[in-house]
This record gives sequence, structure tokens and C-alpha cells, in this order.
Amino acid sequence: MTESSRTLEGLNQEQREAVSAPLSNMLVLAGAGSGKTRVLTCRFAHLVDGYGVSPSSIMALTFTRKAADEMRERIEALLGHPLRGLWIGTFHALALRILRYHSDKAGLPSAFEVLAAGDQQRIVRRILRGRELNDREFPPARVCAFINSRKEAMQRPKDLGSCEQPWEEQAKAVYKAYEELCQSSGLVDFAEILLRTYELLSTDEELLEEYRFRFQHLLVDEFQDTNDLQYRLIRLLAGDTGKVLAVGDDDQSIYGWRGAQIGNLEKFRRDFPEVSLIKLEQNYRSTQAILEAANAVINHNQGRIGKHLWTDKGQGESIKLHEAANARDEADFVLNQIHSWQADGRSLSEVAVLYRSHAQSRILEERCRLNSTAYSVRGGTPFYEREEIRHALAYMRLLEDPNVGGAFDRVINFPPRGIGDRTQALIRSHALSHECSLWESCCRSDFLQELPPRARQAVQHFCEQVSGWRQEVNGLTLSEIAFLAITSTGLKDYYRKETPSEISEVRIENLEELIVACHNYEETEDEGSPDETPDGTTRLQRFLDRIMLDAPVEGENAPDTLSLMTLHSAKGLEFPLVFMVGMEQNIFPHRRALEDRGHSDGLEEERRLCYVGITRAMELLYLTYAQSRQMYSRTEYNMPSQFLFELSEEEQEEPSASASSKDEQEPPPSLSDVKLRKGSRVSHRKFGAGVVISVSGSGEHTQASVAFHRSGVKNLMIRYAPLTLLD
Ligand code: ATP
Ligand code: MG
Repeated sequence: MTESSRTLEGLNQEQREAVSAPLSNMLVLAGAGSGKTRVLTCRFAHLVDGYGVSPSSIMALTFTRKAADEMRERIEALLGHPLRGLWIGTFHALALRILRYHSDKAGLPSAFEVLAAGDQQRIVRRILRGRELNDREFPPARVCAFINSRKEAMQRPKDLGSCEQPWEEQAKAVYKAYEELCQSSGLVDFAEILLRTYELLSTDEELLEEYRFRFQHLLVDEFQDTNDLQYRLIRLLAGDTGKVLAVGDDDQSIYGWRGAQIGNLEKFRRDFPEVSLIKLEQNYRSTQAILEAANAVINHNQGRIGKHLWTDKGQGESIKLHEAANARDEADFVLNQIHSWQADGRSLSEVAVLYRSHAQSRILEERCRLNSTAYSVRGGTPFYEREEIRHALAYMRLLEDPNVGGAFDRVINFPPRGIGDRTQALIRSHALSHECSLWESCCRSDFLQELPPRARQAVQHFCEQVSGWRQEVNGLTLSEIAFLAITSTGLKDYYRKETPSEISEVRIENLEELIVACHNYEETEDEGSPDETPDGTTRLQRFLDRIMLDAPVEGENAPDTLSLMTLHSAKGLEFPLVFMVGMEQNIFPHRRALEDRGHSDGLEEERRLCYVGITRAMELLYLTYAQSRQMYSRTEYNMPSQFLFELSEEEQEEPSASASSKDEQEPPPSLSDVKLRKGSRVSHRKFGAGVVISVSGSGEHTQASVAFHRSGVKNLMIRYAPLTLLD
């Protein structure tokens, strides 16, 4: 076999065309599961094998770390050898790499620190307090969102004109103070990573040329979810000669709320020279039944580019609906189905449970634990965001460089050592006015003299301790440093005394787990060596950068675990068995989208998210909802999600082609069991009371026309419609 045919093997004609296309800009626009990511991967390999491009001069931008890892694996498999130093990663990870290489040019201290979302809020909260702005009117999360969206629109505080609204005027002032604080403490938040990189490359021509020369090929997955800044970065890096392959699906744009621009797909065709367009139409992932459901739902959106997706996988099992009494029963139903799946010899790792909001994972986790079902949660409060871990990491950073402001700030009085809020505020303002780090302030005797004796003593003692630990860590491995950061600093002892003991135990376990994680990183993941640091980064920095952006999920790679995740984090993935739980109005579509009545955009984005969810399923899809649900300590009764109706209404118009295929199989649960005849009186959750005027079809494909007193005549697929028989 020739080398180039190896990278084309098993592709259909359109895919081949894309993979082997001449070197030009290209847009692959196609629906879910049609092999876009596969095309991107094969194109990477083909550039190397067929066009002789060096792997290290291709930049591939993926949406998650997992996608990046998978791509690397697939490329290594295609090329038949392992690769190092590849530029495959998320926008944030690769931009961060650029900033690390050129921190001086970017105006950052070399040990600058990435600020996690939780820490960003902590800092903003403190600024708000300093200005006596209350949390109710200025929730830190909202102010952070304001700051981040301005950064994504490439607006620094100085770029913001005077604001009409007093709220914005205040938020702008907070943004300014926040920016000054981050700059003086060497802190960089997520949005800043992209903005800084953009500013760096767009102002330093020489550097830009260097990057353009090196990266002649840019491959971007999930292009529909790029925001303005990401788009501009690509445009900048490509210049006039770089070749970009963008793959995407307008129907899967689900980050509009975070500034993603669905229009970037169109813009790409306009802005880049000679873009060839390739469409893929065959779906290789899902059965006919699943694909039909997905198409039915997404058809309710306006202004789509519109695609014709088909599959030769056969009808497959129909979509299963289940109504549960409450969220706990819903979780138990899901677990029961999963256990039967396992009883049939199938694996847990083939299963995903998807939900709209992180908080919905709690009850699922609880029931999993009760049933001893191994699971991993993606996109929840990840391991590295936990309080005890954040403290341990801050100590590790501090041991490497005490000038790192965020780390110093986090642990100066944790565990408590008598350096109170007042003293801390004095240290901060001293550092700010003298343009030095918090650590440097604490080491200055003139400043220490200004402090009351007790505070002075406490600060001095802390500084001596830090200097002592710093001497100890010299020459230690990452896991040894972690050990020291957890034990010598008193962190572990502090948590050991915490009550209740269950929490204390979990925290201690987590801290120990951190040592293991460091060890594993050293052994298997780190690409550089501890001593040799061509890019000037240390191993600890690489480890921290990695976990700040997109840490591996606990249990993610364990052989047999169930995946629990939000619909957003499921993007790009696929599973033979998928559950979408909480299919209720106000949950999914989310309340916010429903309240936003003036705009249909919010609801349309929710619908695209629903499309993303449905199209994750390969063989079998369950949609479940609960009659009642505990929400923030009260019980809510939500209607079933409108998406369920959309699924059924559409199916009336285009009855499924192979309606008789699976009638003999065991009857599907719940709704299709309703025995209906002409004249039956029924009640429907959305349409109210009505009378059946005709019934057609049989088994799970039974349809009925019902005249509703309030809403007129509706055709319903009985199996999906939440109908109750009244007589
Ligand atoms: P999404 O929009 O969800 O990101 P996608 O378009 O990126 O989907 P892929 O994940 O690349 O789709 O492919 C979906 C599935 O179909 C994968 O399991 C992939 O291996 C398989 N597949 C893609 N192309 C082919 C092909 N030509 N022959 C067989 N299987 C294929
Ligand atoms: Mg994909």
C-alpha cells in the first residue's frame, strides 16, 4: 500500500476529496457524525504522508483536550510511529504555549499564573467589597461575565466609552481595577490568554512572521463555536499564504452565550482566499431512528443552512421515552436500564448520561454510588477545582516562585496563621503602590515596620517558613514537591481536624491523590524533561498549565466507567447508549432561554444543543423526564420539554420509512401502552383535554388525531405524546 492511500483508506468519496485536496483553504460543512473530525485527522496525516509536511508545522485546534488526545493517537496510528512536540490542542492551550514562549514580549512575568474561573470570581469579589458594591446588585459571577465578554470583544477598559447605565459604569471601573491587579500579580484568566496572544502577534510583526512561516497549515475542528477572537487569531496566523481547513456544523453551534459566532462559518468563506466547500452527507454514527429524531427537532429552527443527512445503518430501535415520578426515580430508571445493558454483555464505557446543568449530576452520582456503578463526571467541579487541591497547588507554585501573586494571596493565611484581612489589605496596597509582588512587600523591612507588632511577627514568620520550604524543594521531583506542599505547610493537618469527619476524609484522600497525579504526570505525560527546558518552562509549570486548562477527568480512561456529563461537554463524542435526562421545560430548554421571549436565539441554541445530544447516540437513545423535581430546596413541577413534542409532531408529517420493522420486540416503556380508540377522552400535558378522532398504525408507531378543546386538532405519535386516558 502506498503511504498516501493509507491515510485515505476507508473514507467515502467526499471525505477522500477533502483529505487529498490540493493545498488550499477548505471548509467542510456537514451534519453530526458525518466524519468531520475524521476528515481533519486524516488530513493531518495526509499532509505529512502525502505532501511531506512536517508534523510539527501543522497546528490543529480542537475543542477539548480529550479530542486533542484522540487526534494525536489516531495520527500516530495512521503514521505508525509516536510523535512529540505536536501543536494539537485547544485554542487556550496553544495560545498559552505561545505566551509561555514569549512571556517577556507579551508583558508578563515568566512565571505568570493561569487564573481558574473560581479564583477570578474571588478576586472580583474582593474588588467589589473594596468599593462597597454589594453582592446582590453586583454578583461577582455577573461582573466576571462582563469582563470576559469585553475581553472576547477585544475591549480593554480604555477602549470602553462612557456607559449610559450606572451598572456598566461601575463594572467598567471594576474591570480596570481587576486588570491592574492581574497585571501586577502576574495573573492571566482564560479570556486573557487569547486576547494577550492576539495582541502579541498583531503588534510584533517579526514574531508573527515567524509563526506564519512555521505554521503553514491550520486545522480547526468545531469551527461553528469559535468566537470572534479565536476567528481573528486564525485569520492572523494564516495571513495570505497559510492554509486553513475548517470543519463545522451550523446546527451544532452551542456557545453563542459565550460569544461564539455561528456566522464565522460564512465569514470564513468570504474572508479567506479561494475556499473550497465540501459537504458530507452520510452519517456513520447513528441509526435511522436516532437520525430522524435529530432531524425532526432541528427542523424547527429557522434560517439553517440545511443539510441532508442519511445513514445506511438501518432503522434500529426506536427512541425510548420515560416519565418518572421524580428525579430520584428517573436516576434509578436510568441505572436499571444500564444494568440490563451490562447484563447483555455490554460495557459501561459505552454509556453516557447527558444533562443540561452541572447540578443535575448530583442525584445521578448519588444513585451510582448506591448501586456501586463506576462513573466519571465530565465538566462538573473537577478535581483540580476543589478547595483543598487549589490550596495545595498554590503552595506548590509558591515554593517554585513566591512572587506569583495569586498563589501567595491564596495561602498567606491558610491554614490560618494570624495574618488577618486588615494586614492582607495593607500588603496588597503596598505592593500595588510600589509595583512589586506581595511577597516582595512582605520581605521589605520598611513595610514591616508599618505593621502592628503581632501582624509583623506573623508575616515575618510566614516569610521565613516559605524561604525554608523553598530550600527544601531544591532538586525534588514533582510528586515530592506535592508531598511537601501538603505536609510541611500544615495543610493536611488542618484538614485532618476538619469536621464532619466524612468531609475531612475525602479531602485527605484528594490531597493524597494529587501526589499520585503528579507522579503519573512525571512518568507518562510530560513531554519535556525536568532539567532541559527549551521553552523556558519548568515541569511544575507545564503540569499546572495542563490541569488549569483541561485536566483529565477522574476515571476518564478507566476501562469500564459510565460517563456523566453536560450536553455541552458531550460535543464531538459518541456513545452506543445515550440517556438525555431532565427533558422538561425550564430545565431543557433552560429557563433563561424561555424567559428571553423577545429573542428566539436562546431557544434555537437550546434546540441545537438538543440536536447535539441526540446525535451523540449510536444505537439507542432514551429521553427521560420527571413529574416533579427538587430545585433549590423547593419542589418544582415542570411540563415535559417542548423538544419532546417537536420530535413527535415532525414524525407525523414524515412517518418513518420502515414502520413495521420492530413491532414484535418487547413493547417500549410507558406512553405507547395507552389503549386508544376513536372517541376516547384524553388529557395532554401541553394541550389539555381533548377527544381522539382517529387512530392509525400499530404498536409503537400508533398515531392519533386528537381534537383538543383549547388547541384544536393535533396529530400525535402516541409513543411520544404525554397523554393520559381519561375514561
Ligand atoms: P460531530 O459533528 O458529532 O463532531 P463528526 O462529523 O466529527 O461528528 P466523526 O466523529 O468524525 O464525525 O465520525 C463519526 C463516526 O463515524 C466515528 O465513529 C467515525 O469513526 C465514523 N466514520 C466517519 N467516517 C467514516 C467512514 N468513511 N467509514 C466508516 N466510519 C466512519
Ligand atoms: Mg467532530
